[in-house]
Amino acid sequence: MDISQERWNADAQKVTLACAQCGSRNYTAAKQIRRLGERRMANKFCSTCNKHTIHRETE
Ligand SMILES: [Zn+2]
Repeated sequence: MDISQERWNADAQKVTLACAQCGSRNYTAAKQIRRLGERRMANKFCSTCNKHTIHRETE
């Protein structure tokens, strides 16, 4: 039994990143990204907007 391993798996649940401008759900990412930035958003390329936009984490 390795409790730390179980906790790691729980933290790795996938979330969706959606474009803040058009709402398209373009990316999925592990919840671990929260540790890299507390704002839970990233600058990603949106094929709908055809440019880089802010993508917010959605459920
Ligand atoms: Zn977009």
